[in-house]
Amino acid sequence: MDCSSHPLPTVAQLCDVIELLYPCMDDYLYVYDLKNDFYFISPNALDRFLMPSNQFHDVEKTHEQFVYPADLPLLQEDLADIVNGKKSGHNLHYRWVGHDKQPLWINCRGRVVKDENGLPSYMIGCINETGAKQRADNVSGLLGEASLRTLMQSITNRNPAGFIMRLGIDDFKDINENLGIEYGDQILKRTADCIASCIQPGQQLFRIVADEFIILDLLGGTTEDAVHLYKHIRQAIDLFIKENHYEAVYTISAGILSNRFLADSSYANVMKLSEFSLNEAKRNGKNRCYVFLPENYDAFLRRKKLLHTLRHAVHHNFDGFEVYFQPITYASSRQLRGAEALLRFHNEETGPVSPFEFIPLLEETGLIIPVGRFVLNQALAACQKWRGIVPGFSVSINLSYIQVMKSHILNEIIEGVQEYLLSPSSIIIELTESGYLESNPHFTKLWSKLKEYGIALALDDFGTGYSNLHYLHDLNPNIIKIDRSFTLKALRNDYEYNLLIHIIEMVHSLGLLVCIEGIETQEELNKINQLKPDYIQGYFFGKPCSYADFEAAFIEIN
Ligand code: C2E
Ligand code: MG
Ligand code: MG
Repeated sequence: MDCSSHPLPTVAQLCDVIELLYPCMDDYLYVYDLKNDFYFISPNALDRFLMPSNQFHDVEKTHEQFVYPADLPLLQEDLADIVNGKKSGHNLHYRWVGHDKQPLWINCRGRVVKDENGLPSYMIGCINETGAKQRADNVSGLLGEASLRTLMQSITNRNPAGFIMRLGIDDFKDINENLGIEYGDQILKRTADCIASCIQPGQQLFRIVADEFIILDLLGGTTEDAVHLYKHIRQAIDLFIKENHYEAVYTISAGILSNRFLADSSYANVMKLSEFSLNEAKRNGKNRCYVFLPENYDAFLRRKKLLHTLRHAVHHNFDGFEVYFQPITYASSRQLRGAEALLRFHNEETGPVSPFEFIPLLEETGLIIPVGRFVLNQALAACQKWRGIVPGFSVSINLSYIQVMKSHILNEIIEGVQEYLLSPSSIIIELTESGYLESNPHFTKLWSKLKEYGIALALDDFGTGYSNLHYLHDLNPNIIKIDRSFTLKALRNDYEYNLLIHIIEMVHSLGLLVCIEGIETQEELNKINQLKPDYIQGYFFGKPCSYADFEAAFIEIN
């Protein structure tokens, strides 16, 4: 057929063709009307890129909204050559911007069509996402993430009774490291085969990233069915490991999500929730499955938010952090002995957050190092001031094992004591056994250096489960702090009360002092005082309070 005699299709006709074709393709077709400065692209481009519409005038200017800024000059130069008729084709690899404001690599190709006078009339072409995930994967022989995305987007009425299972090989990098990447590929292939052998028609398997797979159940299976399937897969893998003569021994974890949580979720959300579920399975110890619960996800989000808020606070001059002080008194005379510095965090969005929640987060992120320094300074400054009024006043400061392991805390404490012109005996450092290993050299070195310097050491949280009588001998602290949970048990139960009597006797016989925490009432105080502890700390004498409140309540009247 000779096409040359046919008139060229108009831009409007081409737009209609694109409208007809785009649901059948992943790439994006476009037409750029050079005469009327008009651009039309497949409507599905709107799902991916930050463009205002799939058809617009003022083409160059509008492109500025969704072309990655660093790549704009490159594009503008090429377009100028096309508009001026210097170039008759366009083939450019550059970046557009996605909805998450992240750059997405594209390859834009097009050819310029000229009018009967030989002037450029329009450019027609195709854009494909070069960075997009593979549709299929030759290692595992499975379809890839892009195929899963297309499938899920095409399911408008997702069966609320089905499920998604995201599987991940545990510690896969160890296999690659120990046995080589090729062997690792073999394992991936065999694992994919094992999984595939367990699923039924109506359940589809995809390989998502390196060592992760997704099973999409469109049969309406329940999460119990999913757990059963997971166990079946594990058995199949165990059998393969045995048949493979234990050359590579590995396990697999799975996150299971009921479709009812995904009914109106975007694909990105499905991936996020399934990733969370798999991570939960791994966090819970690997070689297991986890069934998604919205409350777990809410807790995860709160934790994430809190982490962000804490980091922001640290970077903004510790805004929201405050050091509170709780009185510690002599048990016999009820006179003020000193105070424990206790950190507080308050923020408009989060409200007050318990140290039991935020201290572990600060430890996990290492932020406890700067925050601990902040506490140290505040505590030392308060001690300097109050010691002038209450002779012998001491301040107790909690140290986290992260500060011990990862910062120069010994120097910081000694420098602080010198800077605030304090005697080392005005400081008590509180440490818990949890998180430390007896033989840990950092810990024992710090412990003995502090003592050498003349700082008293308190073993905190005694009686909370980590207590090991060996610590008393090995660490030889000056003070043992009996945790409130133990105090409560002793107040309520004769056996625990007797246990406490003997612990206090033993501690005293070793020449150490005892502080009982958590005394709230006169009655409790009377009962505990019979045990002859050395110090008492509890709401009965005072709750932790701000610097100003502590000063008003305990310092000025003294
Ligand atoms: P901890 O060091 O054992 O501190 C004693 C905890 O018992 C404090 O809880 C205190 O408010 C509470 N307490 C004292 N007496 C009573 C009482 O009579 N009744 C009740 N119900 N509670 C009482 P808080 O302030 O919530 O701190 C909890 C834990 O957080 C602390 O336990 C400590 O392990 C940690 N923490 C607090 N501040 C810091 C800090 O600056 N650095 C580090 N590393 N940890 C800290
Ligand atoms: Mg403490
Ligand atoms: Mg304690």
